Amino acid sequence: LKSLLKDPSLLADKAFIAGEWVASETGATYEVTNPARGDVIANVADPTRAQVSYAIEKAAEAQKDWASWTGKERAAVLRRWFDLMMENQDDLATILTAEQGKPLAEAKGEIAYGASFVEFFAEEAKRIYGETIPGHQRDKRITVMKQPIGVAASITPWNFPNAMITRKVGPALAAGCGFVARPSELTPLSALALGVLAERAGLPKGILSIVPTTDAPGTGQEFCENPTVRKITFTGSTNVGRILLRQAADQVMKCSMELGGNAPFIVFDDADLDAAVEGAIMCKFRNNGQTCVCANRIYVQDGVYDAFAEKLKAAVEKLKMGDGLEAGTDLGPLINDNAIKKVQEHVADATAKGAKVILGGGDPMQGPGNFLPPTIVTGATNDMLFATDETFGPLAPLFRFKDEDEVIAMANDTIFGLASYFYAKDLSRVYKVAEALEYGIVGVNTGIISTEVAPFGGVKQSGLGREGSHHGIEEYLEMKYVCISV
Ligand code: ADP
Repeated sequence: LKSLLKDPSLLADKAFIAGEWVASETGATYEVTNPARGDVIANVADPTRAQVSYAIEKAAEAQKDWASWTGKERAAVLRRWFDLMMENQDDLATILTAEQGKPLAEAKGEIAYGASFVEFFAEEAKRIYGETIPGHQRDKRITVMKQPIGVAASITPWNFPNAMITRKVGPALAAGCGFVARPSELTPLSALALGVLAERAGLPKGILSIVPTTDAPGTGQEFCENPTVRKITFTGSTNVGRILLRQAADQVMKCSMELGGNAPFIVFDDADLDAAVEGAIMCKFRNNGQTCVCANRIYVQDGVYDAFAEKLKAAVEKLKMGDGLEAGTDLGPLINDNAIKKVQEHVADATAKGAKVILGGGDPMQGPGNFLPPTIVTGATNDMLFATDETFGPLAPLFRFKDEDEVIAMANDTIFGLASYFYAKDLSRVYKVAEALEYGIVGVNTGIISTEVAPFGGVKQSGLGREGSHHGIEEYLEMKYVCISV
């Protein structure tokens, strides 16, 4: 991997704790593998819980000074960090693809997307406005101050090894918080590379630590039990989110949770079918179906069902599967064996209950790498596993529906509420359906909704809080009401 990088020093394998690059106290390391080839690309330090605790303590010390900087001063450092990410976009993308598998073009897209949060929140650092409120008595003056919450800690997944971190660190640092980030043990290299660049950007020592531990539960406990941590921010499954929320309850810790989704993608009979197919491809097969906003259930209205199925099949057939580092690859490998098994289980369950495979449905490819060809099934129904459970892989199930009320009821019949999508032209239908969908995000006539300028987040059991937009920084700020008697 080193030989593919213009700047090999971006490939860090130590933990970044309190401004130093350190091995584990026990000397423990673990292997990071390339999911496209199965080979080991790095041995990364596995810090202990005591080292995580030390990172938290140092973040708290450094944070006091950092919070006293002006917004403009913090913005300048963050802006340099953003610039360095973009200058090193190719290398960061190569590292990302090597450890995660997504095609290089998508990885470059993720680096730009990830960096955009740092740029956006650098700008917001200057605009953390308080408020004055007319007093409730003649002699009272009311001021509302916004102050950083203190030390925040994150746990993030492997599917966006860069952007899921910057989405949290960007606003936190802009607000004046200290931060300890624990990346997924499957993809620590992208996180550590961010640490290398943060150091180069001149971020003061200790403000940001990156602890690439393998013991996720232990690190989660440290984050929740250590009284110095005032905020936990998590992206991952609803199950782990529930564990963290329970643990965080003892300290009544502030929590942001970006949890699972089960996104409906609805195609009405007045939709532009070609646009809907294009949107479905981007939405379903980006990152090979491994995103929490990927379409999981595709609902197609009766009159256009067969035509949509044919068009989708023709488009998916053209996607090229392969090593993400090779040019022209559209679909990379899945992250591991379990991811393949889950897709296969969902396909088997659906066919046993009467669904028909019109594309794929086969076994994983022979040879190294976790490659599973994409699958489309028709005749999907509510009793099938994917109706309630996120597949997180390249399986597109097509459900048939008759009218608006029916499809809205089906789309909302889930504990999740992150992203939803629909294609339609009728204006009143567009408004009515957008209002009726119980989701934090609705894409209308588009399959791509992620941007740093909009609030990303879910309702119901998909999470708490929002990331991105001017709302995103509020997650790292406390309001202080000051009442002055004059
Ligand atoms: P995914 O399906 O995206 O892997 P997970 O919720 O399992 O979702 O993982 C998201 C992140 O949470 C990963 O970094 C994982 O290591 C971490 N994690 C898993 N179990 C726990 C736990 N009990 N406490 C804290 N973090 C955990």
